[in-house]
Amino acid sequence: MKTYRFLSFLLCIFPVLAFASQSSPQPSEDRVYSLAVLAFQDKPSTLARWQPLADYLSNSIANSRFELVVYHNEEMEQAVASGTVDFVLTQPAQYVLLTYRHQLSSPLASLLNKEGMAVTDHFGGVIFTAAGRNDISRLEDIKGKRVAGASLTGLGAYQMQAYELLQHGVRLPQDVDLIITGQPQRNAVEAVLSGEADVGFVRTGVLEALAKRGLVDVSQLKLLNSQRLPNFPYVTSTRLYPEWAFAALPAVDNEVIRLVAAALLAIPREGELAQSMRIAGFTIAGDYRAIDSLMRALRLEPFDDFRVSLQDVVAWWFIEIMLGLSLFFMSVIAGMFILLHRQKQLRHERNRSQQALEKLRLLNQVVEQSPEAIVITDTQARISYINPTFEHTTDYSLSEVEGKNPRILSSGQTPKQVFEIMWKTLKQGKVWRGELINKRKNGEVYPSQAIISPVKDSLGHTTHYLAIQRDISQRKQREQRIDELLYRDPMTGLANRNRLIELMDKQLHDNETGIFSLMLINIARFKFINQLHGVDVGDAVLVGVAERLDYRFAPQSAVVARLAADEFAIFCPLDSLQEKALKRLAESALDVFHSPFEIKGEAFLFDVAIGIAPLTALTSSNMSGELINQVFNQAGLALKKVRQQGGKGFGLFDQQLLDDSIVKHQLQAELGKGIAQDELRLFVQPQVNQQRQLTGLECLVRWQHPQQGLLLPGRFIALAEESDLILALGDWVLKRACFALAEIQQLSGDIQMAVNISPRHFRQRDFVEQVKGYLAQADAKPSGLMIEITESLFLDDLDEIVAKMHELKRLGVRFSIDDFGTGYSSLSYLQQLPVDELKIDRAFILGMARFGEERSLVPSIYAMAQQMQLRVIAEGIETEQQCAQLSQFSQLEMQGFLFAKPQDYQAWLDSWLKTKLVNG
Ligand code: C2E
Ligand code: MG
Ligand code: MG
Repeated sequence: MKTYRFLSFLLCIFPVLAFASQSSPQPSEDRVYSLAVLAFQDKPSTLARWQPLADYLSNSIANSRFELVVYHNEEMEQAVASGTVDFVLTQPAQYVLLTYRHQLSSPLASLLNKEGMAVTDHFGGVIFTAAGRNDISRLEDIKGKRVAGASLTGLGAYQMQAYELLQHGVRLPQDVDLIITGQPQRNAVEAVLSGEADVGFVRTGVLEALAKRGLVDVSQLKLLNSQRLPNFPYVTSTRLYPEWAFAALPAVDNEVIRLVAAALLAIPREGELAQSMRIAGFTIAGDYRAIDSLMRALRLEPFDDFRVSLQDVVAWWFIEIMLGLSLFFMSVIAGMFILLHRQKQLRHERNRSQQALEKLRLLNQVVEQSPEAIVITDTQARISYINPTFEHTTDYSLSEVEGKNPRILSSGQTPKQVFEIMWKTLKQGKVWRGELINKRKNGEVYPSQAIISPVKDSLGHTTHYLAIQRDISQRKQREQRIDELLYRDPMTGLANRNRLIELMDKQLHDNETGIFSLMLINIARFKFINQLHGVDVGDAVLVGVAERLDYRFAPQSAVVARLAADEFAIFCPLDSLQEKALKRLAESALDVFHSPFEIKGEAFLFDVAIGIAPLTALTSSNMSGELINQVFNQAGLALKKVRQQGGKGFGLFDQQLLDDSIVKHQLQAELGKGIAQDELRLFVQPQVNQQRQLTGLECLVRWQHPQQGLLLPGRFIALAEESDLILALGDWVLKRACFALAEIQQLSGDIQMAVNISPRHFRQRDFVEQVKGYLAQADAKPSGLMIEITESLFLDDLDEIVAKMHELKRLGVRFSIDDFGTGYSSLSYLQQLPVDELKIDRAFILGMARFGEERSLVPSIYAMAQQMQLRVIAEGIETEQQCAQLSQFSQLEMQGFLFAKPQDYQAWLDSWLKTKLVNG
């Protein structure tokens, strides 16, 4: 800067010196130059102040006259623009403006100011705050504060400070709260001192001047960024700028310019002239580029057109731009991420909604095509949807039911409690399952199985109800049919054995302390009714019996069942376990049969056998199944006993029965073993004619029991008949009889051998073959064999039995009806049977002896037999009296202890052979 000043000085001084050396006056017309000076205040005082300068120049430069004009700011520019002035003395900012716009020359000189005692060609700005403001100590601290300055256009009062703050990152006026106080600058000082403003701006020297005049106590202020610069008398907060500039317009002759510059510099410092203008003089022009920079930076005229270069922008806003750019890019990247993510989400959403749509379509199809009737209602139970199956099932269309309550389907037959439970369940948000009895539009009632579930929204609130129903009338009918087949006796409509057991089981479970009884009722000789009167009558008898039993016992909460053809059962509660309670019950059952049954115009009376046994649910720890089995066995035993004892009346179960049955079963097992181990013995009992000559033998089996000795058939035949043991036993006797017959036939010829054949044995398919086989094996003549059968044989399969008899008869075998008169004796049916002999039971013989001949059946049996050409034999003749009574029947044969007791065959044979030998 010093070099520049020196050069400028040389440049200026040289022509002046040159001009001075040849300063001989030349007569020529004066050239007029217009000197324009900026007026701050009123023009006259400005004019008065600077007139001495114009005069000085006019005097100093030959042939020139300087005319002084004073202008305010705008006028000055207009004058310069129009070229009506030649020289300009103005403040630095305007100088820069004019230079920029109107190519003013470089300054010829700068004003040398005199402020008080100090002379200076520069000035700066002061920034201050109140002394106590610890929060404001750096320029940066000013951001956001209230700042006071006299005017925006003042270089030293505002612009210099603004420029300085800009360098420290604080932009004015936007970064602060600006207070324009107006002139004088002292106002700004007072604003800070009064607290109206935080910070104040004044031109350099102002504070010192005020302090000097005692107007301000500088100790109350704190200067910011304060500095003392060399050759400058005041404290400043900013860099320094040159004072007013004196410049020429471009059109002015260079020579004149030089002369003017020299003249200005030649004004004696603080001389008379200078003092008259209240300045110290002029000095070498300062460096106005600093002003230029300041004005550009602050966007002052003429740099306020905002045509800023990119560089400017970058320079001013570098950090902000970088921050902004970073933020921008970051947000762009974030935005991209968000977009990508959103796009992915959208894709996902789209897929999901496509899937959901597909699902919905499927669901719709499922619902529409469902074989179940589907109804959807709102929470008020108003129908909003029905599917085609619903329409089909109920006959209602959507238009008929929409908005209505599903109770239009109600038949009134569904129990009230079902609906109560249903609504309770649904209100709890749970699914209800159950059966409803509904009604179609045409009034037809049908059972339906229903599932009703609440439909909930995402918050779990019920919005609808969905009911799925299936018409189960066909299933119900099927179930009923199966139930009937499984649990009903089709003929009588009574419960069958399965149903009885089921109901017994239920009652035992439901009533654990209850006492019950089971009665088994058997119609005596029912098969015979069938035989004689036909199946229709038999069936009608059964139906009649069922009706009467049901009528009599159903009111007592009894279960009446039919177990087998002629067997009924009654399971009913019992008052007490005492015998009389059981008896009373059995008697009331017997009562049912006291009056005759009217069937097809005929009256039927028949005997029944009843077995009754009690049971208590708590009598044992048995499962009900075992209890039921047990009571069936017990009642069965009681029944059996009754049947064995003549087949009518009732029997109560007692322990003895059970014990007997146990013993019997044991014996049965031993019999099986005994047959296999050849413990059976063949006994025979002779049969004689009226002349007491031997005509035949009856084979009577005995069992040589290892411990109990010789057992009579009464102990074991019934046991054997209950099982297949009778087959082995019968087979054994038949074989021995055939061999014995052959033996006797070889010895004497014409003795008949009678063998007792049980019905079970006779019914064996190979019975005929068996007989033929043993006869052949033994080589016995069939005509000697008499097969004793009982009437019970004819109850079943009469034709088959008769056919077998005929087959054997063709061989020569003969048949005798044993115990005649004790069975279902009907002389009429005897005619159809191929029998040869009737064997009158011992009971009739005893009866004849006791009640006399007139009341005996023997004579009529004998007479009828004679008529039918049947042989007749009386058994059980024990006394001579009996024998005598029978002597009138000349053809009658006899058997009994009177003639001979049954004896071991071998023993009999030996003794017979002996007598035979004796008799010759
Ligand atoms: P049943 O066929 O009527 O035999 C006659 C029964 O009367 C025989 O009894 C016989 O000993 C008995 N008896 C004969 N005369 C008199 C008499 O004067 N007074 C008395 N009180 N009884 C007399 P038993 O041998 O005890 O046989 C009883 C029944 O056992 C037989 O009655 C028959 O039904 C059956 N039985 C015997 N052996 C056989 C056999 O081998 N096979 C089959 N299936 N049954 C047989
Ligand atoms: Mg016999
Ligand atoms: Mg007999």
